[in-house]
Amino acid sequence: MSSRKGLIITIDGPSGAGKSTVARKLAERIGYRYLDSGAMYRAVAYAYRATGDQQEIGRFLGNLDLSFSFDEGAKVCFNGEDISTSIRSSEISLAASRISQDPKVREYCTQLQRRLGEEGGVVLEGRDTGSVVFPHADRKFFLDANVAERARRRHVEVTASETGSDESFSKIQAEIEKRDRDDSSRSLAPLIKPEGAVYVDTTEKGIDEVVDLLVKALGERP
Ligand code: C5P
Repeated sequence: MSSRKGLIITIDGPSGAGKSTVARKLAERIGYRYLDSGAMYRAVAYAYRATGDQQEIGRFLGNLDLSFSFDEGAKVCFNGEDISTSIRSSEISLAASRISQDPKVREYCTQLQRRLGEEGGVVLEGRDTGSVVFPHADRKFFLDANVAERARRRHVEVTASETGSDESFSKIQAEIEKRDRDDSSRSLAPLIKPEGAVYVDTTEKGIDEVVDLLVKALGERP
């Protein structure tokens, strides 16, 4: 335990619950590193499509050249090319949800997260960071919000970004509902509230309010 640089904190929840922004701001506030595990699944999905998705997945993963840095949001490179923006499209959201059901892909991303997170002083966010990746994490949170609010947030994000600027609200809501269903019903590492996680409903809360709440919870005994 002595070589640990701090706590391992996990934040899980469905898409649009505010995890990424909250995790990044929380990490900033307490001087921790931030790790966006969804960006890893997205990067794998992007790379698989880019290299012709007929390959045997184990061989593909064995040759995969991805690099991640999370200093200012997630920066992802594939074969040296920055794909941070491309992995945020709706197409890649759905492809990531599909490919994340593959056991070899889960193993690849889980090992990567463990390697990057094990020394502590880190806030990880995703779907299974507190249930599978670090089941013994020091502190766990589960962020949630109702589906209409999550779709609203995602719509704002998408229309402000360079990709998919004309996507309709109802299409986004349908996509979120599909991903919720797929992520929650899959047999491997389904989206669940991990044992011991603090549940936070963010539907009517602003980002800073949620970050304050988490900081306060960290100051209290688990
Ligand atoms: O969080 P984000 O929307 O970027 O994640 C994209 C997809 O990656 C999710 O819909 C989910 O299927 C998958 N994912 C996962 N486990 C994680 C993080 C993301 O299966 N820890």
